[in-house]
Amino acid sequence: MNAPAYVGRFAPTPSGYLHFGSLVAALASYLDARAVGGRWLLRMEDLDPPREMPGAQDAILHALESYGFEWDGELVRQSERHDRYAEVIDRLIERGLAYACTCSRKQLEGHGGVYPGTCRDAGHDRHDAAIRLRVPDREYAFVDRVQGEFHQHLGRDVGDFVIRRRDGLYAYQLAVVLDDGWQGVTDVVRGADLLDSTPRQLYLQEVLGLPHPRYLHVPLIIQPDGHKLGKSYRSPPLAADQASPLLLRALRALGQQPPADLEGSLPGAVLAWGIAHWDATRIPRSRTLAEAQLR
Ligand code: GLU
Ligand code: ZN
Repeated sequence: MNAPAYVGRFAPTPSGYLHFGSLVAALASYLDARAVGGRWLLRMEDLDPPREMPGAQDAILHALESYGFEWDGELVRQSERHDRYAEVIDRLIERGLAYACTCSRKQLEGHGGVYPGTCRDAGHDRHDAAIRLRVPDREYAFVDRVQGEFHQHLGRDVGDFVIRRRDGLYAYQLAVVLDDGWQGVTDVVRGADLLDSTPRQLYLQEVLGLPHPRYLHVPLIIQPDGHKLGKSYRSPPLAADQASPLLLRALRALGQQPPADLEGSLPGAVLAWGIAHWDATRIPRSRTLAEAQLR
């Protein structure tokens, strides 16, 4: 069998319930996959147990089901992938691409958030230390399907970044790249808050010999005061009895133009309309959208 031409995914973090902003991202990735007959995978990014909200994983799965989303294959949990992450980190250290960092929070202050490289050549022991990936002193650029060209200089703007924390937790940047590669993801569709993580991920793909997926970053839904939904507020769960109206509102947020008479339809019918009429070129070319303007 040939590898499928399109493999998409939704990768929620169980630090809280799905909210309207996550619905917009889930819907965009789902429709973009299904409109071309592609596969759509679901991955739980449960890397950080202390920040996990009890019951969030079940609530997320339940919300996706009641909103009519159907994923292909088994749900993958990052908490079950630790052996792989550990193996890759060992290899990166052996190749001289990553190193142990023992800097305290205090030592890291005052560099504009860019790691100054203090431990680069210190040869610290990898146990009881954070592990950082050495970044090249160059710019990475890619063309996002909605946001257009995006550039970032890894050395100047990001610096050597953490791939395993000192407390042993694995970093999102490493896990997302390894798992997208392992699952054969061809298309990453997600919120625009992750645009500036993408150059780090492009570099990781390069050092790990993984292909670069295509990227599409949808506008982030924000509160009137500019805050991202779900982070600074504890958002309520997506109500099961609001599935069709909220899916329609999410479609409109993505620039699609569903007919008003879909309002009374079941979620499955709204999704079917969305698949049949999906036009990614209509997605607003904006990093944020105010929730209040979408009602
Ligand atoms: N788990 C991340 C989040 O919920 C998304 C990761 C991704 O789509 O790359 O924000
Ligand atoms: Zn250090």
